[in-house]
Amino acid sequence: MSENYGVVYLGAGKVEVQKIADPKFQTPAGASIEHGVILRVVTTNICGSDQHMVRGRTTAPAGLVLGHEITGEVIEKGKDVELLEIGDIVSVPFNVACGRCRTCKEGHTGVCLTVNPARAGGAYGYVDMGGWIGGQARYVMIPYADFNLLKFPDRDRALAKIRDLTMLSDILPTGFHGAVNAKVGVGSTVYIAGAGPVGLAAAASARILGAAVVMIGDFNADRLAHASRMGFEAVDLGKHDRLGEQIEQIVGVPEVDSAIDAVGFEARGHAGGEEPAVVLNQMMEITRAAGSIGIPGLYVTEDPGAVDSAAKHGSLGLRFGLGWAKAHSFHTGQTPVIRYNRMLMQAILYDRLNIAEIVNAKVIPLEDAPSGYQAFDSGVANKFVIDPHGMLGKAA
Ligand code: ZN
Ligand code: ZN
Repeated sequence: MSENYGVVYLGAGKVEVQKIADPKFQTPAGASIEHGVILRVVTTNICGSDQHMVRGRTTAPAGLVLGHEITGEVIEKGKDVELLEIGDIVSVPFNVACGRCRTCKEGHTGVCLTVNPARAGGAYGYVDMGGWIGGQARYVMIPYADFNLLKFPDRDRALAKIRDLTMLSDILPTGFHGAVNAKVGVGSTVYIAGAGPVGLAAAASARILGAAVVMIGDFNADRLAHASRMGFEAVDLGKHDRLGEQIEQIVGVPEVDSAIDAVGFEARGHAGGEEPAVVLNQMMEITRAAGSIGIPGLYVTEDPGAVDSAAKHGSLGLRFGLGWAKAHSFHTGQTPVIRYNRMLMQAILYDRLNIAEIVNAKVIPLEDAPSGYQAFDSGVANKFVIDPHGMLGKAA
């Protein structure tokens, strides 16, 4: 291993590529482990949930190495790793999971009980998620490697599709989980709030699950134009303040079978100001009686930058009575990536899911990560994929 460099959070609005320590076979608390591998990072993506931290909307500490969307090559393995070999190309689920606790055994790897002393659920490079070092770096350590990692069956084939496969670490399974929980099936009408990468991944997921119509709402003209080019119905929320009427123009009724919130707690209302409950309330308005709402968008328990004191602690002004009256089903929480990544990998490898094109992947070198963060924050219609070793070259 040569020297390690990574993307470090320095405070609101500021990230920098710095020299960081080489990864060790160690837990965040410093206990040594033999169930981990060290990866040479092949790709690592910038995520909307990283943006929440970088905007200063979380309690992330300065010095945090960012990055939870990681694809890599195994270059070292601990003595207890049995199923992986040096040279394997693997997708890392962003959930750190032990595979042995009650929730992992139930398949809920997004809320593993043992990898984060503070609460259920661990992740790499993320505030309050257990202190696992992030992978927007040249090298990273992955614990419980046999359980966590998805090995791509063929190295050359994987590298040829790496711009698609890199989306398996988070946004594709996240969007898919939203669509599954919104009970999207053959012939469904679907509305997705948010035309960023997770919204587009949810749209791609709804399509592959058989939806009849997939609508995506946003205020961002570039993102809507891209969604429309990808064959989805773009709903310009800036043009109208009655979402139901906009939906009616497309499907003939002001309601959908399934709704997906791919926005989360930094939601904005029609007036332009932040309204953290606005998307959830819209979802209840436009979802039909007995319909389902998937909520992959991130909500937090602490938001120092919130608009009011209730929202600072994650309390939102929900019109819950409306959802109750319509017998809605809601599903929250992080996706358990492992539940979906293998099937989605197959869909990609067999040309059923052109996710890189749908989310408009843009490959950048590690040193351009800070400008990637800036561009993504300005609302460009791209998903930024960092290529820390130049393995993808100028394929973008
Ligand atoms: Zn992510
Ligand atoms: Zn566990």
